[in-house]
Amino acid sequence: MKSLNNDIMALRHSAAHLLAHAVSELFPGTILTIGPATEEGFFYDMLPARNFKEEDLPLIEARMKEIANRNLPLTHEPMNKDEARKLYKNNPYKLELIDGIPGDTVGIARQGDFYDLCRGGHVDTTGMLKNVKLTQISGSYWRADRSKQPLQRISGIVFFTAQDLAEYERKKEEAAKYDHRKLGKQLDLFSFHEEGVGFPFFHPKGKLVINLMIAYMRKLQQANNYQEISTPTMLSDTLWKRSGHWAHYKDKMYFCDIDESVYAVKPMNCPGSILVYATRPRSYRELPLKLAEFGHVHRHELSGVLHGLMRVRAFTQDDAHIYCMPDQIEQEVITIVKIAYSMLNKFGFKDIDVTISTKPEDAMGDPALWEKATNALKGALQQLNIPFTISEGEGAFYGPKIEFRIKDSMGREWQCGTVQVDFFFPQNFELEYIASSGQRERPVMIHQAIYGSLERFFAIILEHFKGHLPFWLSPVQIKILTITDAQKEYAQKIMDKLKDHGLRVEMDETSDQISGKIKRAQEEKLPWMLVIGQKEVDNNAITLRHNDGKQEFGLTLEQVIKKADDLNQ
Ligand SMILES: [Zn+2]
Ligand SMILES: [Zn+2]
Repeated sequence: MKSLNNDIMALRHSAAHLLAHAVSELFPGTILTIGPATEEGFFYDMLPARNFKEEDLPLIEARMKEIANRNLPLTHEPMNKDEARKLYKNNPYKLELIDGIPGDTVGIARQGDFYDLCRGGHVDTTGMLKNVKLTQISGSYWRADRSKQPLQRISGIVFFTAQDLAEYERKKEEAAKYDHRKLGKQLDLFSFHEEGVGFPFFHPKGKLVINLMIAYMRKLQQANNYQEISTPTMLSDTLWKRSGHWAHYKDKMYFCDIDESVYAVKPMNCPGSILVYATRPRSYRELPLKLAEFGHVHRHELSGVLHGLMRVRAFTQDDAHIYCMPDQIEQEVITIVKIAYSMLNKFGFKDIDVTISTKPEDAMGDPALWEKATNALKGALQQLNIPFTISEGEGAFYGPKIEFRIKDSMGREWQCGTVQVDFFFPQNFELEYIASSGQRERPVMIHQAIYGSLERFFAIILEHFKGHLPFWLSPVQIKILTITDAQKEYAQKIMDKLKDHGLRVEMDETSDQISGKIKRAQEEKLPWMLVIGQKEVDNNAITLRHNDGKQEFGLTLEQVIKKADDLNQ
């Protein structure tokens, strides 16, 4: 039986054929390359007969729907390679694909007089593809090789029902409305500049949020005996050669010369942490040794994939490295998972998906150690009564891992947080500890990142809360609004006391109407307004107005402080 996932992938894949079919009818001479189904929909890369423009999309989409209405059956048959080469004699891309397919035959899909080289996996007829929509035209390259002739990519989405398509579009619109890049500007949190492409600039309010996120994680770490370190941003190439980054990650790293040596800007914090571990002999009594670092790392992402704070070229990780004995893995993982759940629950994420990725084929290290570590990950989750799925063979070559996925208020899924067991670095850097027997033993290393990238997590919560950050995280928690200037003196006293208490308070100093002041505070998306009129002054009271319009009248200052303290917990 086919799973739903297979069905939707077949639908998307078939829609890619439909797109190619429509383009071939409308623009004869267009050379087709590849057209796969994707996480979101489908695309087709083509060398067009003439350059496609944005205005062509409705035309192509209309033709796709027309072909869908023809209700053509989709068939798929094997063809021997020589025959297929004749069929594609004018298409170097398909010829290259044919050469790459093992065996003597290839698959050819057909609908009406249109055909396409393909592996198969289709819906039955084009009639099932009516709920299709083209979303964009972009540039691409054959096999992502920039030295090759540029191609054009048309992307689209497709659904089984019109309702599903409408729901997707509604969500898309909602997401655009609360795009963190828009909110970041609107709320004066951060900006991006030509002078540093992909490097975010945090404004006072945005930096405050990042600092609060760090302070919260630091509190969780300290409660669990983590110790914080800080390692250099630039380190010599000898370290990166030893860590394997030079061989496998060089394209994403930045380099510079210092004196006679080549230095790299760190893309990860692990090697720096390892140098700290290895500064002196370690005893088993020191293990587990948990070294945390809020490390700022740089990675050279291609300019085309940069996306606000979600995808940047420099970001801060809430990194921690745990050096422990193999027998301690399970207990340490329990602690990490507890930290992860505390953090995710604190931000209101309740719907958390947990996956364990196990030993891949090209794994390094002792199979017995792999088994022990993988069982420790499973055991930890079982002890915590957390359901999980297993991603068989999907682990990194150097160890199994746990990943957390969350669902936000708009139903979108985000991967957040990893717990990665690592046998490779301890071996590669010859890390040791003196066991109780007096023997030198090799520790296991666990990489932990819960927010992952603080910048990315900031973007996720900004969109999740639609700009309304929770009270404890709001750069400005309380705005004081007086009805007339006559209440300013009383309001000032309240503000001073709240500030003395450590709350983040501002006063609207304008002489605008109260309705205007309320509107402005709402637009700033801050959680609390304290409205002070003559009645409040006379009764020595405060009216608390929440952002959603709910009001609480006649509160004392002590009551307001108590409420704020509860939310700041
Ligand atoms: Zn196909
Ligand atoms: Zn690490």
